[in-house]
Amino acid sequence: MKRIVCLLGVLLSLLSLTGCQAKEPFSITYYDCFDTAVTLTAYTDTEEEFFAFADELHQFLLSCHRLLDIYEEYPGVNNLYTINHAGGKPVTVDPFLLDFLSFGKEVYAFTGGKVNIALGSVLSLWHQKREEGLADLENASLPYEEDLLAAASHTDIDGILLNEADGTVTLLDPLLQIDAGALGKGYVSKLVQERYPDKNFLLSLGGNVITVGEKPNGEDWIIGILDPFDTESTALTLPVSGAAVTSGSYQRYYTVDGKDYPHIIDPDTLYPADIWASVTVFCADPALADALSTALFLLPLEEGKKLVQTFDGVSVYWIAPDGSYDKLGLDG
Ligand code: AMP
Ligand code: MG
Repeated sequence: MKRIVCLLGVLLSLLSLTGCQAKEPFSITYYDCFDTAVTLTAYTDTEEEFFAFADELHQFLLSCHRLLDIYEEYPGVNNLYTINHAGGKPVTVDPFLLDFLSFGKEVYAFTGGKVNIALGSVLSLWHQKREEGLADLENASLPYEEDLLAAASHTDIDGILLNEADGTVTLLDPLLQIDAGALGKGYVSKLVQERYPDKNFLLSLGGNVITVGEKPNGEDWIIGILDPFDTESTALTLPVSGAAVTSGSYQRYYTVDGKDYPHIIDPDTLYPADIWASVTVFCADPALADALSTALFLLPLEEGKKLVQTFDGVSVYWIAPDGSYDKLGLDG
């Protein structure tokens, strides 16, 4: 069984186990959830037990993926695509989506609107230009300013009306579009943590890593933070317990006239943030880690530190575009 699992966002390196009684983990990667590579690394007594766990987990991830999908609809499922295309009519949804959207509103509040799940109309302009630009490098272009401004007038978070009593979501502004990209993977990771408390595993959803339980010999789970300037190597490795989530400019971007435009958009400028090359957040709660990694990617250091310090037990590693770094709550 391979010991090194290469991830899109974070390179996990399991520390070499010493001693002849060392137990090897099992590992599997899926490519059909959340538009990223999903890798499960778990310690189980038998291979059968591993695959039974992996299959169950995979089905759970697929069901979450379908609910959060903004690009496709699925028979019998009311998902974010359904809500975004309902023309302002109420849509009956799974409680999962009501809870997720309610969390999105909380994140909006504690990030001062920097992370906004209602930013979809703006994000889709960038998404479309990125797709076109990656398909035709020579003719890559930026969204038109007037289109961005027009889209920005449909991003009011209060336009997402959640009715817990009747289990519906209504977009009060039919042109508002929800985008789950900043929060979905972390939110789902948290559900996974809660769903399998007795297993011993590490799960990576792109740049989102969670650990549950222990390695057999009690060693730490170790993750490597990718070097944003050479994603074949790691900038550093650190122990993780709970969650580690990276937002990075290298994860999704395109290039126009020699300048890179990454995928995290500042709602105040409507352009990609360029303060950081990557930000990695460590904390027990994967949903919080995912929300904070995107928020911190958008904030200058001091503002970011202030935000982090409103929470307990959060550590951060920032890498700047010039290669310098800052950290908070990490030893050494
Ligand atoms: P993450 O990798 O968790 O930092 O999330 C990045 C994804 O979040 C992007 O691909 C977009 O789908 C979405 N996104 C980008 N900028 C924002 C923003 N300011 N607020 C909410 N979602 C965003
Ligand atoms: Mg995030």
